[in-house]
Amino acid sequence: MLIGIDDTDSNEGMCTTYLAALLADELKAFGTVSDFPYLVRLNPSIPYKTRGNAALGIEISLFDESLESKKELISFATNKIEEYADLSCEKTNPGAVFIFDEAYVSLRRPLNDFFKKAVTDVVEIEEAAAFLKSAESDFSNSVFHISMKNGRGLIGALAVCGAVLNPDWDATYEYLAYRLPKNWGSNGGPKRFVETESLILADKTTAPETWDTIDYDKKSKPFPVCVPGGNDPVLFGIRGDSSDAVLKAAKCVVSEEIERSRVFKTNQGTDAHLILAESFSDMLPLHSYLSKGTVSSKSETIEGGHDIFQIQDDYGNFLKCAAFEPTGDFRHIIRELIPGDEIRVCGSFKNETLNLEKIKILKLAEEFESVNPNCPICGKKTESAGVGQGFRCKKCKTKTESKAEVLIPRKISVGWYEVSPSARRHLSKPLIRYSKDELIS
Ligand SMILES: [Zn+2]
Repeated sequence: MLIGIDDTDSNEGMCTTYLAALLADELKAFGTVSDFPYLVRLNPSIPYKTRGNAALGIEISLFDESLESKKELISFATNKIEEYADLSCEKTNPGAVFIFDEAYVSLRRPLNDFFKKAVTDVVEIEEAAAFLKSAESDFSNSVFHISMKNGRGLIGALAVCGAVLNPDWDATYEYLAYRLPKNWGSNGGPKRFVETESLILADKTTAPETWDTIDYDKKSKPFPVCVPGGNDPVLFGIRGDSSDAVLKAAKCVVSEEIERSRVFKTNQGTDAHLILAESFSDMLPLHSYLSKGTVSSKSETIEGGHDIFQIQDDYGNFLKCAAFEPTGDFRHIIRELIPGDEIRVCGSFKNETLNLEKIKILKLAEEFESVNPNCPICGKKTESAGVGQGFRCKKCKTKTESKAEVLIPRKISVGWYEVSPSARRHLSKPLIRYSKDELIS
């Protein structure tokens, strides 16, 4: 059977991954819990999402498949959700879905569609409710749900069930370590202790199989991206391509005492949210796209250090692109783009603007400047001989009529460029994960 949970966390601290890690440990009383709970990120552009827009799934092979035992499990999980969900937060609207084996085959495909839609598109609560109504009437003893407050969490709860039942997607892993509950505190608790040197070692030991542990992009000193702040029960998280890699990295870390830890199977770092857009006119708000265009205006840096420029597609549509201040050194690349450069763009479309996650420079335009020509004899730069008089070399007495056009060397080259790890969206695929072919194509 599987359990999908969503929307128990809040901006104040509680985190659904902790609840899932706790349930994965405690549900061992009911059956064999599969090695990796699922941590699935949904459409990052949804405005009413909780912090990370994550949904959690746990799969269990039950010891006892009787209806009584199923109900016992549901009530156990419900109590835990009630205990740990931050119901006081307006944005926290928990939902949980329980799907037992008898319904797996029939629900696999519709749940897969639901999962894909929740990652790339906008799903309303009504759609989740209708799905559950129909599934619960078809499988009265095999599909159950609970919801609290407006029940928005049912969307993610169903979506993660689709992810668990259709494991064919590009998966990555994240090791999460949790602080002792006494350290959570309402004001962030005592300062987190995670030794940065040990995180650098973890990164050096396991990269490129792990990523986004340290942000080296910060000018001052290496920044531990993998350590959250505030009230979050998470102490640190290591992301990587395999469970072995993230566990190996975690072993290097020197930190305060950990209450529990868990490796999650995730869709983080996979670009699952991106939709291919041929034309900019196909772009809809609250969706994320991969597209292509030609730079039509040079970037302008606006107040706050954000960079804005415009590109044009093959059909004559214009698109505003933004690289916000937190994207870091990425903006230095953006500022070097000139009209005529051809680029691939990835990002979320909001307020008529594509918020860039990464770009690929496909072709650089040639830029020329007019300069005094060189002397045809000695090769030295000539001087102006007066208005309309051409140019002459003092030494050789040669004369040249007009200025020379020379190519201005470009400071950037073709290839992929991405935002700083600190600014990366959970779903965005880091370049470190790209194969050689993907980097070229
Ligand atoms: Zn000369």
